[in-house]
Amino acid sequence: MAPDPELAPPAPPALKPPVAAETLAHRDLLGGEFWRSIPAYAQVTRAEFLDHKWQAKHSITNIAKLLATLEGLVSEGFIADARGGFERAPMSVRVSPYLLSLIDWRNPSEDPLRLQFIPLASRLLPDHPRLDLDSLHERVDMPVPGLTHRYTDKALFLALDTCPVYCRFCTRSYAVGIDTEEVSKFQLKVNVDRWEQTFAYIRSRPELEDIVISGGDAFQLRPEQITLIGESLLSIDHVRRMRYATKGPAVMPQKILTDDAWTDALTRVVEEGRRRHKEVVLHTHFNHPREITEITQAAMDKLFERGITVRNQTVLQRRVNDSIATMGLLVRRLSYVNVHPYYVYMHDLVKGVEDLRTTLQTGLEIEKGIRGATAGFNTPTVVVDAPGGGGKRDAHSFEHYDRTTGVSVYVAPAVHPGAVYFYFDPIDLLPAAGQARWADPIEQARMVEEARAAALAAPH
Ligand SMILES: *Cc1c(COP(=O)(O)O)cnc(C)c1O
Ligand code: SF4
Repeated sequence: MAPDPELAPPAPPALKPPVAAETLAHRDLLGGEFWRSIPAYAQVTRAEFLDHKWQAKHSITNIAKLLATLEGLVSEGFIADARGGFERAPMSVRVSPYLLSLIDWRNPSEDPLRLQFIPLASRLLPDHPRLDLDSLHERVDMPVPGLTHRYTDKALFLALDTCPVYCRFCTRSYAVGIDTEEVSKFQLKVNVDRWEQTFAYIRSRPELEDIVISGGDAFQLRPEQITLIGESLLSIDHVRRMRYATKGPAVMPQKILTDDAWTDALTRVVEEGRRRHKEVVLHTHFNHPREITEITQAAMDKLFERGITVRNQTVLQRRVNDSIATMGLLVRRLSYVNVHPYYVYMHDLVKGVEDLRTTLQTGLEIEKGIRGATAGFNTPTVVVDAPGGGGKRDAHSFEHYDRTTGVSVYVAPAVHPGAVYFYFDPIDLLPAAGQARWADPIEQARMVEEARAAALAAPH
């Protein structure tokens, strides 16, 4: 029997002053019927809003409709700016009502959720001169279309090319979503023949123990597809670990609560994995503490009760989560709902989103600022996914970093011994001397060679 708190001895004298209220702010999750403040959803009941079918059906998939939904909520100037942003940005549009309801429409210009999904023409910056589409060179390491085998023992399986929402900053904008005028996409449709080739390849490579099932997004897989992929991979002896990757919990947690067929299919794969002593987990992608509400908590509780581990991968983004305070709050709030913060990525070099990138220096300071704030296993590693196919590197492990030119240099001995990789800070955040050098095409190549030489000369 639990002891009676009335009979407990008084607390020993405090060594520390009581904590400030903001230290516990991660527990204040948005609840209530917050969506009703959006005119279009004013009459929507809780049951409707929690229904994943309602969320999917009312997701906005074209720019005209999105802008029409905002009429009356925001200024005409904002709408014109957003229209201009979409005209210039190579992306598909899909926004869930849940996500739309979480944006603070009283201050949309600065809102960290709006920034991730709705571009504003007035904020766009020129792309970095070193950017190319598919900067991670995922297509170079593909033995089968959609399967990237870069690291020895793990591979990335892009099962499909659709998502529950489309993010402005998507690294896979080379493949994800329907074609836009800017980019003719590399096709990764659901295709069982392609999947069978993928499984055959994995079966033929005994070193592969770990498969990431991504896309696109595992939320878009039908329950029988979750099962087919799960059972096919679990039946391969040497596959020991699998992760289904989805942004779903951050943008449509309703699905976990009300799409029983989907959640049960995932649960059965996890349970079958457990029977075979193999780990099957969910990887997700929250970027801001406001993306976690009481609805998220209910969804994560449901997965936790079923013994499903959830880990999070965040992208470090300027004005979204580029402060110790915001990232610290995100990490504590994720931990509070039993999601493990796994990685914080330095933003990949992606077309049309230079305004969202920030410097490596910012990433290093954030890591220093949050380490020690909570359990070590809930403290994310800040990584750079080295452009050119070097894979993820601990941000602190650079061989060289010039804060004036913004060029950092990494090596990846376990991935590609001997190769050297570069990451580039956004030019507008560099000191004037660095900006001036990037304005000159001859200097651009010189800066990269200087960085390479400095890295190779550095003591190892
Ligand atoms: C990210 C990634 C993985 C998984 O890497 P972890 O560091 O284990 O999370 C595997 N393959 C590719 C190509 C990746 O980009
Ligand atoms: S959900 Fe993931 S894969 Fe889909 S658009 Fe967003 S970042 Fe890209």
